[in-house]
Amino acid sequence: MSFFDFLTGKPQKMRIVFNGHPALRRKSLPVGAIDDEVKAFAERLLVSLAESEVAGVGLAAPQVGVNLRMVAIDTRPDPKSASQIQLSPGELVLNPKMPLVLVNPEIISHSEETETCEEGCLSLPGVDGDVTRPAKVVLRTTLIDGTQLVLECANLLARCLQHEIDHLDGVLFIDHSPKWQQKEARKTMLELEHQEKLLESKEK
Ligand SMILES: [Zn+2]
Repeated sequence: MSFFDFLTGKPQKMRIVFNGHPALRRKSLPVGAIDDEVKAFAERLLVSLAESEVAGVGLAAPQVGVNLRMVAIDTRPDPKSASQIQLSPGELVLNPKMPLVLVNPEIISHSEETETCEEGCLSLPGVDGDVTRPAKVVLRTTLIDGTQLVLECANLLARCLQHEIDHLDGVLFIDHSPKWQQKEARKTMLELEHQEKLLESKEK
């Protein structure tokens, strides 16, 4: 299977799958060698994030139906608010490289301090819910060029990493939200599941 458009050679956008797609509930496999196929897929993940219908700050491989431990992120703060934020070491290193793909990312430790924020997800359009997560995390990851990094991350980057790495373990943000919000989201979740089944059958 080629990840490139045969005619133009440009990486092609992939369809972002909705709630109900089996890849969203599977545990993803670690990436072995970063070969040409992995690199080509990384390009497609970046294009899929950049060209998503709703602006997103992260996209995990299972969200395009691929159960590999890879995520695309772009959590750069807009220039207006950037000066008011105390950037963490992770943001200082990664922001200039964004948008970028992380290979086999993992959280190796986290702060006791937590923050609660409303989250959404490109695979769950129309659903939002509060999620309490550690405010700071230590990320261990490989970049697509093979660089290995261990970085303390805070702010939106820390939240996005936890949300995306959850995807690699088959976990959706709504699973962490209060029961009443899960109940409120139920109808939309079922509608998305229905829509996903229709889209999947068309692709077959
Ligand atoms: Zn998501």
